[in-house]
Amino acid sequence: MNDQQPLNNLLPDIRKKALKRVKKRPPHESAASWSGEDLLYSGPGRSIFIVLPTPGCAWALAGSGGCSMCSYIADSPLEEVSSEELVEIFKVEFQRQIQNQEITGPTAIKIFVSGSFLNEEEIPREARREIFQIINEYDDVEEVVVESRPEYVSEEVLRDFCQLIPDKIFEVAMGLESADDTIRLQRINKGFTLEDFQKSMDIINQLKSDFKVQGKVYLLVKPVLTSEREAIEDAVKSAQYAAEIGVGRVAFCPSTIHKGTLMEILWRRGSYQPPWIWSALEIIKRVRESVNIPVIMDTAGFGTRRGPYNCKKCNSKLKDLIIKTNINQTIPEEVECDCKNKWVADVEFSDVTRSTTNLMKNR
Ligand code: SF4
Ligand SMILES: [Zn+2]
Repeated sequence: MNDQQPLNNLLPDIRKKALKRVKKRPPHESAASWSGEDLLYSGPGRSIFIVLPTPGCAWALAGSGGCSMCSYIADSPLEEVSSEELVEIFKVEFQRQIQNQEITGPTAIKIFVSGSFLNEEEIPREARREIFQIINEYDDVEEVVVESRPEYVSEEVLRDFCQLIPDKIFEVAMGLESADDTIRLQRINKGFTLEDFQKSMDIINQLKSDFKVQGKVYLLVKPVLTSEREAIEDAVKSAQYAAEIGVGRVAFCPSTIHKGTLMEILWRRGSYQPPWIWSALEIIKRVRESVNIPVIMDTAGFGTRRGPYNCKKCNSKLKDLIIKTNINQTIPEEVECDCKNKWVADVEFSDVTRSTTNLMKNR
């Protein structure tokens, strides 16, 4: 772990102010679920997504202030949620999805907790056991995916999970964000080094002989204080690193501006813009050409004021193209639009404080 305080120690204060504005809600109101077409390890299938309320990400609540782009903590009930309550909420959301559409054919269950599922302070051991026992009854569920910071990955915890779903793939998705320590520690304030991450992957890789366990990484496209060009280069290199060390899948998360974050403050001052959608396209082209694991580009927020943006004419077209290739993993075809030249210029000439995406959005 790295306790150095980056960004002039701004983040704890920003987080404190943001937390004061959070309206407390009862835990079940923070829960949600939905389902949709998705790419599984076995090919196209369906994923059921379930968001469970937990006390909130321990890293965001610690003195560090958490990560510079993330406000998930604002969606948490910020109070302890008992094991019984968590399991009950899981059952309600899971049943709702099964009633919408029965589980038949390749299915994945993805459980989000806006923090770390493997941290027993966030999800008590009894709750995770019961939830996994319920899931294990469904033969067509091929994969169970949870998110965690790497410091909670231990052999003991992983074995415990894997034994509960011995025939299913258990995937731990970790927000590595970047393979570059300076970017991750100083600009994102992620608080763990590449060595820390590598250790968690070593544990996962060692257990592959006994279980169907996988590691997945999320990579942030364009952290704060990062130019368009650097964002593209860092994303490509980080995915290549992930593939080399045995990560099973990569998901890119291009920045969207969350409320109450340093990213939002810089954006309001004109010192930060989320990436162009052209950059997202460029990244998946280059990465799919050079790695042989599935690579997903998250398109949430594409074409919105706070998200990745090109121009009104091509935002949706490119978003649809990316979604399609996320499922079939092909390299997207060449697309043209009048705004592409501006992106090319931005990649070539923009520095941290100037970005033509700003002008495009205000047109
Ligand atoms: S990105 Fe993950 S680790 Fe960072 S504050 Fe958000 S939930 Fe916590
Ligand atoms: Zn365009």
